[in-house]
Amino acid sequence: MIDARRLAYLEALGVDVYVPRGAARAAQLENAVAPERVAGHVPALNEPAPVAAGVNPPVDVQGLDWNALEATVRGCTRCALHQTRTQTVFGVGNRQARWMFIGEAPGAEEDRQGEPFVGRAGQLLTAMLKALGFRREDVYIANVLKCRPPGNRDPRPDEVGQCRGYLERQIELVAPTLIVAVGRIAAQSLLGTDTALARLRGRVHGLGHRGWPLIVTYHPAYLLRSPGEKRKAWQDLLFARQTVRRLEAGERVLP
Ligand code: SF4
Repeated sequence: MIDARRLAYLEALGVDVYVPRGAARAAQLENAVAPERVAGHVPALNEPAPVAAGVNPPVDVQGLDWNALEATVRGCTRCALHQTRTQTVFGVGNRQARWMFIGEAPGAEEDRQGEPFVGRAGQLLTAMLKALGFRREDVYIANVLKCRPPGNRDPRPDEVGQCRGYLERQIELVAPTLIVAVGRIAAQSLLGTDTALARLRGRVHGLGHRGWPLIVTYHPAYLLRSPGEKRKAWQDLLFARQTVRRLEAGERVLP
């Protein structure tokens, strides 16, 4: 049911929600989802990254608990980004969350505060979560990269390759019902594809050899620049919620 509180958040998001007379229509809006399709491609997140001569082999953090993993990340010097970071940005939230949101990399504010998705984009993500009925601390939030690329440039493939073992271990530890890849860079990095974000949306992908269910949506920083796309982001989140419900009912969402 879309209640007054959720409508207020949707208004804050800039999503126009038409609510005509009657609860039936409200329920219809609540349950409206993007057409579901499933993906046949299941990329292997844990496949070894190509290792060039002189480059570190993939990080081995299998078996580490949260404290050991966080300490390892804090001291990491596996790629050049450690030279320019203020601090690592590990991740935040409920470590037993059903929903895990993954962005691309820390920005300037995240680098300063040591927390992912802060600043204006983070506030919008928090508003999106509230529109879904979550507090920020109900979900787990992390990035593909734990250190800020200088000048907010895109992560480089070698940096993603060096860092991704940490994220893989975070995913294993959280064991979420659903992963939401936030933004093009995160989606493409996680799925190992250069397919446009628009074509990755609206379906369930399987991530890694475990086939973690993953859906894709827009980055809130993009939504701030392109507010006309907020409605699509809301559709993605409704699709995500329907997917979680199906998974928790034991339904198969992947081929
Ligand atoms: S970005 Fe990842 S791999 Fe590179 S130094 Fe930071 S934690 Fe290590």
